[in-house]
Amino acid sequence: MSRFRVHKFGGSSVADADCMRRVAEILDDDPSPRLAVVLSACRGVTDTLLSLVAAAERQAPDAAGLVEPLRLRHLGIAYALLEGSTASDYVAELERDLSDLQGILQTIRLIRGSSRSVRDLVAGYGEIWSTRLFWRYLSSRGRRPGRVVWIDARDIVQVEWTALGPTVRWDESRAGRRRAIPGDASATLVIPGFIARDEKGLQTTLGRNGSDFSASIFGDLLDAEEIHIWTDVDGVLSADPARVPDATIIDALSYQEAMELAYFGAKVIHPQTMAPAVLKGIPIWIRNTFAPEKPGTLIGRRPDSSDPATRVKGITSIERIALVNVEGAGMIGVPGTAQRLFGALREHGISVVLISQGSSEHSICFAIATADAERTEQVLRRTFEAELARNQIQDIAVARDCSILSIVGDGMAGTPGVAATLFGSLGSTGVNVRAVAQGSSERSISVVIDSRETTRALRSVHSGFYLSPHTISIGLVGPGNVGSAFVAQLESQTARLRADCGLDLRLRGIATSRRMLLADSQMASCGWRELLNAGPNGEAVDLERFAAHVHADHLPHAVIVDCSASGDVAACYPRWLASGIHVVTPNKKANSAGMPFYGGLKEARRVGRSHYLYEAAVGAGLPVIHTLRDLRETGDEVRRIDGLLSGTLSYLFTTWDGREPFSKVVLDARAKGYTEPDPRDDLSGMDVARKLIILAREIGLAIELSEVLVESLVPDALACVPPGEFLERIAEIDRALLTRLEAARAGGRVLRHVAALDVASGRASVGLMEVEPSHPFGKINRTDNVVRFATARYHDNPLVVQGPGAGPEVTAGAVFADLLRVCAYLGARL
Ligand code: ADP
Ligand code: ASP
Ligand code: MG
Repeated sequence: MSRFRVHKFGGSSVADADCMRRVAEILDDDPSPRLAVVLSACRGVTDTLLSLVAAAERQAPDAAGLVEPLRLRHLGIAYALLEGSTASDYVAELERDLSDLQGILQTIRLIRGSSRSVRDLVAGYGEIWSTRLFWRYLSSRGRRPGRVVWIDARDIVQVEWTALGPTVRWDESRAGRRRAIPGDASATLVIPGFIARDEKGLQTTLGRNGSDFSASIFGDLLDAEEIHIWTDVDGVLSADPARVPDATIIDALSYQEAMELAYFGAKVIHPQTMAPAVLKGIPIWIRNTFAPEKPGTLIGRRPDSSDPATRVKGITSIERIALVNVEGAGMIGVPGTAQRLFGALREHGISVVLISQGSSEHSICFAIATADAERTEQVLRRTFEAELARNQIQDIAVARDCSILSIVGDGMAGTPGVAATLFGSLGSTGVNVRAVAQGSSERSISVVIDSRETTRALRSVHSGFYLSPHTISIGLVGPGNVGSAFVAQLESQTARLRADCGLDLRLRGIATSRRMLLADSQMASCGWRELLNAGPNGEAVDLERFAAHVHADHLPHAVIVDCSASGDVAACYPRWLASGIHVVTPNKKANSAGMPFYGGLKEARRVGRSHYLYEAAVGAGLPVIHTLRDLRETGDEVRRIDGLLSGTLSYLFTTWDGREPFSKVVLDARAKGYTEPDPRDDLSGMDVARKLIILAREIGLAIELSEVLVESLVPDALACVPPGEFLERIAEIDRALLTRLEAARAGGRVLRHVAALDVASGRASVGLMEVEPSHPFGKINRTDNVVRFATARYHDNPLVVQGPGAGPEVTAGAVFADLLRVCAYLGARL
């Protein structure tokens, strides 16, 4: 005779008539002649039944009225699926049960309380109603070989409730099975999950979500070849899909992995419920009722996985956890403290989820359900009353709002670096770890964290193990020339970076100096400018709210890209960095502000564990800052930096040959967009001075902008006039400059605007200089920047970085490169 196959359908799989039809079709297609079909109550019914009991206990006035929706729901399904006398038989049974139920509820109301057996009796109706209905429907379809039989699980499964939950009495249950289950070669048994009987013969349950347990018990009793658990997801996912939308299906799990995942909160399977199947080595499939063609997840002794290299299979979380820390020098070397502590908890039925003890024995730290926190504290204060009084135990501290996050996988055992990846991912998203526990099996590592950080932590760890893409939430401030070019480059690479590097870059906010546009998931690639400026979605800018939106709790990492040139925006960096937002920018204002502010940036980065990159602030797309940093980090000693740091000024002095007034060249350049709107920003030399300061500070000089000797090309008389007036009177700059040019020419030289820093003396200067045409500063292309580093290693022949030093495209490219660098620091595989 062929062996039984067990199918279990959860509440979501039998929620309504359509669902039940789908379940019947799945069973029609199963060629195995012997099936045991275990069903849950229709979705939500158990909850409703239990709430009825609670309402009756409270004597809530509308308690009776809550029964009617249950009645209508089951009648609705019955009339959709059953016909004629089959329907009326079912309805008659249902009405009988409902009137019994009303009687029970009335009793509860009168005595204002209920016992466990009364609650179990009420809770179990859901499974009776769903299975009696489905059994009739399946037999009326007539597509199963042999008989379709309703089996009363209470005649078979006998359990005893202990502190550890329901324990199966196997001998009695086996005897029940022999009595109640027909020996037909072909039979389809429809069995209510969740319900059982106790030693006294009273109805009881197997605990919430107990239908999985039923399936596994029947798997054992029927010596089944396989158990299929049907639910509403494609299998066991690498994380709870409600928390981590990128979670992926795990094709295969060992029993141990599955139990560990279940214990630590993967709600799709339930802890201990698998035990009977595990002991007998029955393979368990987790499958989707709504997509039966999908393969699902196989749980077995040593199932083959298509991806055996995966070390960490899944990540779970348990919420509403409290962390208790018992601390005191008096515990050191005192045997039996832990035993007394956990003994006391056991006595009071408080279950401990996780324990971690430091090797110093100075403290014991453990996690319990928050619901038990109050009681635990009282129990411990009583147990250690004497020690507390003598100050041998200093404190019993209870932190209530915690969660446990666990990573699970057999492959972790003996693999170095798993913990490092876990803690690295948590650290990079700014999640603090309050306690750690690793089982000696090395099959899981658990950490206790603040509960409000759970989703962010799950996502970061999930992508840290490459189980999902690294999601980076991006906010752009200043969609001007550079900012717009950045958005275009970002969009052109997003799909590729996702496919090749598992990087999920999401532009979720754009702000100008006046307005901002926020997107929940991602900014639409076109039309954002219109929406920002005029559309209903754009709103007045509020950089604090902007930053909070970008730094969403549920996304692991946030980066603000500041493409403005605004000092006000730069003033926000310390707050952003300290809160864990990374900042990438070509804006020079922050790094050239006063030294206390500059120092504050460093401190903010330390506090927020955030990154701050600004390669494009000097030399646009040229690798200036990086080169300097590499020299410094590898121990080279920078002695002198000089160069041409303004693409605009390079352009002006390579273009101007003296035949037309300098001011005309400036106005032409302005028309082409080569200068700032107010050309004085370039001509004053301040922009170059800021860049020089940035470089000087990069090598550790504490130098202020005011200490740079700046030669301005703008005469004093024009320095402070309004921009319009300056443009009108711009010819006033010509005479002095022409004199300088002629003097240079007389010596066969050319004019260049040069910045120079002498490290030993700390002298920094910016201004016009005559150079030989053959000098590296002489023979340059139009908008070139040149930076020369004279160092201990490069002493005869300085290291030179040269190339176009202006233009939105190249500047945006450097900003983008910095953004990707941040992603790599955060663990993306670039
Ligand atoms: P059923 O109604 O079939 O008994 P449950 O609601 O008990 O189903 O369990 C399935 C649900 O478990 C899924 O809908 C999913 O939201 C949730 N879940 C949580 N963690 C995981 C995980 N790691 N893999 C799959 N599902 C999970
Ligand atoms: N109906 C029960 C519950 O909701 C058992 C189950 O669905 O597994 O807990
Ligand atoms: Mg369930």
